[in-house]
Amino acid sequence: MLAAAPCGGAPQGSLAFFQTNHGALRRREGAGKEAIRVMTTFSSLGIAEPILTALTDYGYEIPTVIQEKAIPAGLAGRDVLGSAQTGTGKTCAFGVPILQRLAQKGAGQAIRALILTPTRELAIQIDDNLHAYGKNLPLTEAVIFGGVGQTPQVEQLKRGVDILTATPGRLLDLSGQGLLDLSGVEIFVLDEADRMLDMGFIHDVRRVIKLLPQKKQTMFFSATLPPEIMDLVDTLLHDPVRAAAAPVSTPVEVIRQEVCLVDRGNKTSLLLAILDQEQVGNALVFTRTKHGADKVARDLNRKGVAAAAIHGNKSQTARQESLRKFKAGEVRVLVATDIAARGLDIEDLAFVFNYNLPEVPETYIHRIGRTGRAGKGGTAISFCDYGEMPLLRDIEKLLKKPIPRRDHNYPMEVFEAPKKDAKGRVVNPEDAEARQAA
Ligand code: AMP
Repeated sequence: MLAAAPCGGAPQGSLAFFQTNHGALRRREGAGKEAIRVMTTFSSLGIAEPILTALTDYGYEIPTVIQEKAIPAGLAGRDVLGSAQTGTGKTCAFGVPILQRLAQKGAGQAIRALILTPTRELAIQIDDNLHAYGKNLPLTEAVIFGGVGQTPQVEQLKRGVDILTATPGRLLDLSGQGLLDLSGVEIFVLDEADRMLDMGFIHDVRRVIKLLPQKKQTMFFSATLPPEIMDLVDTLLHDPVRAAAAPVSTPVEVIRQEVCLVDRGNKTSLLLAILDQEQVGNALVFTRTKHGADKVARDLNRKGVAAAAIHGNKSQTARQESLRKFKAGEVRVLVATDIAARGLDIEDLAFVFNYNLPEVPETYIHRIGRTGRAGKGGTAISFCDYGEMPLLRDIEKLLKKPIPRRDHNYPMEVFEAPKKDAKGRVVNPEDAEARQAA
């Protein structure tokens, strides 16, 4: 059994805290009134002592907005509709209620909580976080995802699991083989629902929901709520408490943004020069294609900069190994495509490079939001060749301000209009290169 947590009020004193609109936490003495909220503590949310201690040990001092709203509702057994994306602290927002409610009933054999998430990386991160938050509790967690052999996952399930984090495909696969039973699920979390829709998993999600008992607590998280998602919300949630987090990825003043106008063929030389000039400790570099990610990583390695590419064509083991090496400082530059980078939980990321500008301006904001986390300032440097100028204009339109140009030794010299195909569509040179290589 868990001891009830003492309910402390907001501490007195001049130290105010606010959350910037990209979700980073900051403390300030005497900050401007509009930005200040009264400090809420984790203990005032009704969290039990073993979990409070674990959160403190993990370095969490103050709840984020989504945690402040979702944790009390989740602990009370209410359904939760959270508008939040990765980076807002949503894992703790649903993780704490799961851990506390299950621990109150003691350890069991059946799967009592299921967290469904779209990507393997997110699944692993959620499981890691739950393990850390629940380290003082007698509960067991497991994670299952595709792309790796199923035997170790099945063995773990056989030993008994209280909290299962899963991607839809492997979950349905194992369930179809009769290797897991979801009839005892008391708490269900649907994580990144809109991403499930984008990735074409929504039918799988519906199939999973059919395997769950009717009576359960559901916590539903989605960054956006398009109509298809609202349909799911209406069928799945009962009188939910709504909890919205400020979007994580709005660039704020803490992120230094710069753009370099540079020819395509000089981008890697420029990257190497800036890595050196800025004494970059670690950086995430975004490329347009998987082929591009491999090429940039290969070229950097050839020039003596330890780099690894991470994208959907790599095996799960290879991706995890690259991430581990990056976090351990063995790899200095991680080169990723947007999909592969989504959900990567990398602390202390000081630099983000856009080797290619994204087609969708909002993606720029998501990408650069990867740096400057937890209130630490970060730098986002983008490379733009002549063909990408329209993309830069779209991004600046979205930002409502120009991105400062950075001077460098590889100024743009090629001013050729992009090639078009027979139907008059612009042919992206990176895509053409990737096709040719394939
Ligand atoms: P999430 O949105 O759950 O992926 O969390 C984003 C990042 O913020 C992760 O690195 C978490 O470990 C971290 N985080 C979550 N909640 C807090 C908190 N209350 N204080 C500090 N860091 C946090």
